[in-house]
Amino acid sequence: MEKMNLLKEWSYTPTRIDRGYTRKTLYLNVGTPEMRIKDVSDEMIAKFTGGRGFDLKLLWDAVTEDTKWNDPENEWVVAGGPLCGITQYPGSGKSYSAFISPLSEQSYDSNSGGYFGPLLKFSGFDALEIQGKADRDIIVYIDGDEGKIQIFESPLRDVNAYTVSETLHDYFAKDEADKRNISVICMGKAAETTFLGCVNASFYDVRRKAPRLKQYGRGGGGTVLRDKKIVALVVKYSNVKGTENNPVDMDVLQKVGVKLHKEIHDFDDVQCKMRSIGTAHLNEIMDEYNILPTHNFKFGQHPVDPEGNRARIHSEKYKALFTQNMPDGCWYGCSLACAKAVDGFELKTGPLKGQKVIVDGPEYETAAGLGSNVGVYDPEWTVEANFYADHYAMDTISLGTSLAFVCECFELGFLDTKKTNGLDLHFGNKDALMELIHRMAEGKDDFALAVGKGSRKMKSIFAEKYGAPREIMEKIAMEGQGIETSQYMCKESIAQWGGYFLTLKGPQHDEAWLIFMDMVNKQIPSFEDKAEALHYFPNFRTWFSLAGLCKLPWNDIEPEDNHTRYKPQEAARVPEHVQNYVDIFNAVTGQSITKEDLISMSERVYNFQRLFQVRMQKGNAVHNIPDRALAPVFPDEWDARKEYHDAKLLEETGIDPEGLSTEEKIKKLQEHRRGVWQVLKDTVYKRRGWNKKGIPTLAKLKELGMDLPELVAIVEKYSTPEDDYC
Ligand code: SF4
Repeated sequence: MEKMNLLKEWSYTPTRIDRGYTRKTLYLNVGTPEMRIKDVSDEMIAKFTGGRGFDLKLLWDAVTEDTKWNDPENEWVVAGGPLCGITQYPGSGKSYSAFISPLSEQSYDSNSGGYFGPLLKFSGFDALEIQGKADRDIIVYIDGDEGKIQIFESPLRDVNAYTVSETLHDYFAKDEADKRNISVICMGKAAETTFLGCVNASFYDVRRKAPRLKQYGRGGGGTVLRDKKIVALVVKYSNVKGTENNPVDMDVLQKVGVKLHKEIHDFDDVQCKMRSIGTAHLNEIMDEYNILPTHNFKFGQHPVDPEGNRARIHSEKYKALFTQNMPDGCWYGCSLACAKAVDGFELKTGPLKGQKVIVDGPEYETAAGLGSNVGVYDPEWTVEANFYADHYAMDTISLGTSLAFVCECFELGFLDTKKTNGLDLHFGNKDALMELIHRMAEGKDDFALAVGKGSRKMKSIFAEKYGAPREIMEKIAMEGQGIETSQYMCKESIAQWGGYFLTLKGPQHDEAWLIFMDMVNKQIPSFEDKAEALHYFPNFRTWFSLAGLCKLPWNDIEPEDNHTRYKPQEAARVPEHVQNYVDIFNAVTGQSITKEDLISMSERVYNFQRLFQVRMQKGNAVHNIPDRALAPVFPDEWDARKEYHDAKLLEETGIDPEGLSTEEKIKKLQEHRRGVWQVLKDTVYKRRGWNKKGIPTLAKLKELGMDLPELVAIVEKYSTPEDDYC
């Protein structure tokens, strides 16, 4: 590539890390342009810990309650956290982003692997804020070796992810060996044309000699960055060492790390097989338990093929596609190594048709969302859809759920080929679905543009433009707070209704995944048990986002005696691994936290984020659940498991299904479960210390030491005494 045109340059002295923190954050306004380095106070660390906590605090300070996703003051903030970048314990390279989302119009957080978070911290920054809008396409370069921050005019006509990441690894590296010292954040064309824009983050794979991509997938963060005219954010830091975080006790860090490496070595092959299949090992498990989303979450199992074969998208199919025996970790030291890839995949469609590429994934969410949920049982199609979704920068979860909604609308007759500009979008129509994905990125076709706005906005567009019945679409569009549901069927798990729809940011499984505890193992039978789980797990999982860790090594690998040593509810927490986290946090930071402290650290940020949503929604941050998430909506959905659903109706309501029409049975079960949802919501709100509107009480804020003036003001503005539970 030709030499890029330098628009602006600043110098700085990188601060070295002490006990996990640099205590500096970098603010860049790409509109003015302006650069500032801010100090991190003791109070900021005490209240927000790091990672997502820092993101949300910085974002809160940058926006007002009227800020829209495409206002210049909206920010995309990214931070690692105090453990981010350690190399001794698997899963320690995650970074977390936050921004006002175009889909939900409130704060959203999204995490990614790859090297960006660690290299940013090693370059001297606990967090990076990007604000403003540039007047042309730009590339931001942070050089942690030289202490330089540069903004270049982007010469790249092709803004798609694989092109940009390969070009910039080449451009900024001195030689082949230097490429691993670089990480590129980049988007793609669909981040300009849709609200589903994801952010890709690279790590250089030295064996494949190519950049690989992980994603801050959800919420439309890529759309925010492209709106700011950012083509790429590049960071460079050379000669990464295992001591970069300057921990207080390297011996403990090494000892705990070795213990987990051994567990992974000994048990991964008999537990989750993350090293050979990645998270795609879930495909057949979900299918077996009837929770694999199929045809827009109507069914939980996919139909057998004409030969009676059930295993059309099971993990053995993906295992055959993934290159085996490669150390596919997305950060140094992750021996769980789940970042599987398909090598030498020849694309059959689109602008790169005929080229052989490396495809990152598919992970389970992509395999289900761009598989059974759209009625496609062809792993090679899913691999191609996965490639283009990443390349164009579309979140594969929102894309899969949005396309599934479109297919059902087509089958219901709300759409036809005239409205879709010639595409026959019945479930399983692979060619038309792939063409729609390309059109969404191209941004010229009005129907594809509507789909790219996501499920919530599609409902309005389809109703207004095509006369589609709003009431039915409200029942079947699987979204909450404007965010598409990730790929698990929750109809039969009351706790997972909460795990999806009583969340901070919408239905994403990174808060709580309780289906097995609840539906399969029946370990949390009462509402109080479910509420306890919906308090503990969202907070425990929040902690990963504060520290800068990947959740997967917590429970996708377990000590051999976990289930014999502990009672079931305790075993689900994987107590030995929780202790590992306490030990490594203390070993890095020099603090003396306990297991209980993990939860209170998280609770502070969890309640802060809840009040952020209350602020952005002006007191109206309501938790809703669509009918499709509660129970069957249509007779064919009921009849697919008729005996099961009839029995459930009798068991749950006492109503004898005998003699009732299927429509009557559906109505009665829906009414009953909506009542159950309300009881769940109240029980969870009470357990969390929130009022009837889901607003944290002043007493809760005081208990957490979060009675900060700006939070107290929000509570007082939007709560009345009548909102309190007695
Ligand atoms: S478990 Fe997988 S996603 Fe998590 S850090 Fe390791 S390779 Fe990356």
